[in-house]
Amino acid sequence: MAAEFGATVWGRAWLRTVESTSVTTVDSGLPKARALARNKAVEGLAVGTGRVTAGVRVKDVVYRVGLILPEWTGDMRMEAERLVAGVAAQRAALAPGDLPDALEADLRGAGVDLVVPAADQVVQCDCRARGPRCVHVVAVLYSLVQRIDEEPALALVLRSARAARIGESASGVERIPLGQLDPARFYGD
Ligand SMILES: [Zn+2]
Repeated sequence: MAAEFGATVWGRAWLRTVESTSVTTVDSGLPKARALARNKAVEGLAVGTGRVTAGVRVKDVVYRVGLILPEWTGDMRMEAERLVAGVAAQRAALAPGDLPDALEADLRGAGVDLVVPAADQVVQCDCRARGPRCVHVVAVLYSLVQRIDEEPALALVLRSARAARIGESASGVERIPLGQLDPARFYGD
């Protein structure tokens, strides 16, 4: 049976940082945060480049959580783009949104941080609990792990929109948001 959190190498990479860096602050909060994620208390999880937002419902209160996760820059971004381009053919054989496991190993081997180091993560929550990570933030991170397990390509989207797009069309799915299609041009003059 697949793990509830971290069923893929991509989700597992994020799970490691959630569980290792939370220990000192909300040790006893981990089971509670997992329960919130499991019981669908995390609502409207949105994953974009450099940020994750969600609401966490506890009884009748929804706490808004925001995570600011710096994008890849400089050499790390170039290296990531090179490695992603290198697996474009393998990616074409997978379902849309999936990534070959070998890419995670390649990134790690090249010293590219798939996951934003805890010290570089900026977290915000309405609850104003003391300490860097309240249970709501950790619950959102657990939900992020599950979301990445479902769609590993989001792990790339988080760190670089450009790297995420490389080779994507090779999967046979052209992802053009409908709003960007100009109907006049689409159908020809
Ligand atoms: Zn909170």
